[in-house]
Amino acid sequence: MDRAMPNIYDGELVGVSEFVLDRLPSIARTSSRAFVTIGNGHAAWQMAISNTLSQGDKVLVLECGRFATLWGRAAEVSGIEVEILDSSPGRSIDPARVLERLEADAGHEIAAVLTVHADTSSSAVNDIAAIRAALDDAGHPALLMVDCIASLGCMRYEMDEWGVDLTVGASQKGLMVPPGLGIVWAGPRAVEAHQRAGLRNAYFDWGPRLVDGPLYTRYGGTPPVTHLFGMMEALQMIEEEGLEAIWQRHQVLAGSVRAAVDAWSAPGGLCLYVTDPQSRADSVTTVATGDVDADELRRVCQDSANLTLGFGMFDKPDRTFRIGHMGHTNPPVVLGTLGTIEAALHSMGAPLGASGVAAAAEYLADSL
Ligand SMILES: *Cc1c(COP(=O)(O)O)cnc(C)c1O
Repeated sequence: MDRAMPNIYDGELVGVSEFVLDRLPSIARTSSRAFVTIGNGHAAWQMAISNTLSQGDKVLVLECGRFATLWGRAAEVSGIEVEILDSSPGRSIDPARVLERLEADAGHEIAAVLTVHADTSSSAVNDIAAIRAALDDAGHPALLMVDCIASLGCMRYEMDEWGVDLTVGASQKGLMVPPGLGIVWAGPRAVEAHQRAGLRNAYFDWGPRLVDGPLYTRYGGTPPVTHLFGMMEALQMIEEEGLEAIWQRHQVLAGSVRAAVDAWSAPGGLCLYVTDPQSRADSVTTVATGDVDADELRRVCQDSANLTLGFGMFDKPDRTFRIGHMGHTNPPVVLGTLGTIEAALHSMGAPLGASGVAAAAEYLADSL
C-alpha cells in the first residue's frame, strides 16, 4: 500500500480495481455485484439504506447485541421508521419470533429486515438461513439486509444460497486491510429497489457505479488507490489459503479460545457470555468476568504486555471483555493472547478453575 500514487484514470490501477471487483463477490458467496465506497462500515450501512429505502419506510431491526440497532439508528436519521426486535442477553435471534412478527404485518408495511451475521459486541452469531425461512414462511416481501462486517473472511456465509438481498462489509476486520473501504453486495431485489428508492444521494448512488465506466465513476470520484492495492493482496492471500480452509482455521482457533475460557471458569470468575454453543461466533469471543474487574484486566494486559483486549459493550461494561480472533491470525498469536490473559488474571488474584492455556493447547493438538 505504501507506494507512489499512480495514474488514477489509466494503467495499472485499472487492472487492480478489476481484480478486486471481480473477486469480492466470491467472498460473500454471491454472483451479485459489489459496490465499494471510501469509508468505514458506517458508510456501507448508509450506502445500503440510501439505495434501497424511502423516507417513511419502516424497517424491522433484529438485534442480538449492539450493531443492528446502530444501523437502525442510521436509518432513523434519514426518516425511516425503526422497530427493534431484541433477543435475550447472550442469545441469538429466535427465527420463530421473526416469523410471528412478520405474519402480524399483514399489510407488508415493513420494507426491510436489518440484522447482523456475527455481532461484535455480544459475539453471538445469527442463523441467517433460518431468518430467511421466516420471511418466506410469512410470505413477506421485505428485503433481507445483513451486516457481515465481523464475519466475512472468518465464518461460512452464503449470500445467494441463504437468500440474502444485500450484504454489508468493511475492509478492516476479517478482510485484513486497514479501515477505509465500505463494501455493499447488492442482489437482484436490492438493485430493483434502487430504482424507486427515495433516499438516493449523489455520492452513494449506485446509478453511476452500476455502469462499467471509468474508475472515476465506479468510485464516486477519486478511487481509494492504496486500499485497492491492499485489498488485492488480501484477496490473493484468501485465494491462496482457500475460503473454506480459512473458515476452518477460524473455527479451530475460536474453539481453542472457548476451551480456555471454559477452563478458567470458576464461581465468581469468568465464563462465556453466549450461552448456546451453536450461537457463538468464530471471529470474536465475549467473556463475562463475574466479580473480576474487566477494566483492570484490560489495563494490566495493555500496560504491561501491550496486549489490547476489546472493551465490554454491555450493560455492565466493566464485567465483560472481548478477545478478537479474526483475519490474519494463528496459534502463536492466540496462545500468546490466552497466556497473557492468564498471567494477568493470576496477578490480580482472580478466581481460576484451571489453566486455559493448557486447555487451548490440548484443543489445538487435534488440528495440528
Ligand atoms: C466494526 C463493525 C461495524 C462498524 O464498522 P465501522 O468501520 O466502525 O463503521 C458494524 N457492524 C459490525 C458487525 C462490526 O463489527
